[in-house]
Amino acid sequence: MRILIVEDEPDAAKFLAKGLRQESFAVDTAEDCRTGLEKAAVNTYDLVILDVMLPDGEGFDVARELRAAGNHMPILMLTARDAVADRITGLNSGADDYLTKPFDFAELVARVRALLRRPHQVADPVIKIADLIVDTHHRRVTRAGKLISLTTREYALIEYLASRRGAVAGRAEISEHVWDETYDPASNLIDVYVQRLRQKLDYGFGERLLHTRRGEGYQLALESTILSS
Ligand code: CA
Repeated sequence: MRILIVEDEPDAAKFLAKGLRQESFAVDTAEDCRTGLEKAAVNTYDLVILDVMLPDGEGFDVARELRAAGNHMPILMLTARDAVADRITGLNSGADDYLTKPFDFAELVARVRALLRRPHQVADPVIKIADLIVDTHHRRVTRAGKLISLTTREYALIEYLASRRGAVAGRAEISEHVWDETYDPASNLIDVYVQRLRQKLDYGFGERLLHTRRGEGYQLALESTILSS
């Protein structure tokens, strides 16, 4: 899942980006309203974290503009002021949740995950595909009861594919949600990661789960259920 952080304090932005990357999110950052809106217009974000006080305006304005432009991703506001008026303005401007600075990073991650579950109606944080279990709450993947050790990016890719629940995910779509703006569309990174995942998920297990659909993308499903549907 890919997140945009709009935060003008460099240390705070760096801290958030680093922490969220360690949690397997792809993260882009913007230091003001204008850059944030530009990045949101070009890239696809699953969630936006907005600081309220920005050099060229307020995070509320960014939230309003994002909504006016038809963006439905969850928005989490970071406010330095614990004022009721700010919270109301935030929610009225289209934000879904807010955190008052200073906040606990673990709480931010918990809120981010809760917000990301909402739009997809994934009430259950555990996704099951045949004998593969992706626990999105603990970022833990098992197949046939065996724990599969994954890097943060490998986990991000499998979580994204699993969230599609058997549907094919295209390469462009995968790069938009699993990689950040440093991703080079000309690279073969996705293939490399899919190969690695296949080694870990499918090698030594019965049926293959990770399939390449030529010209379409990748699919995480049991072959037998694909053929019968
Ligand atoms: Ca600020």
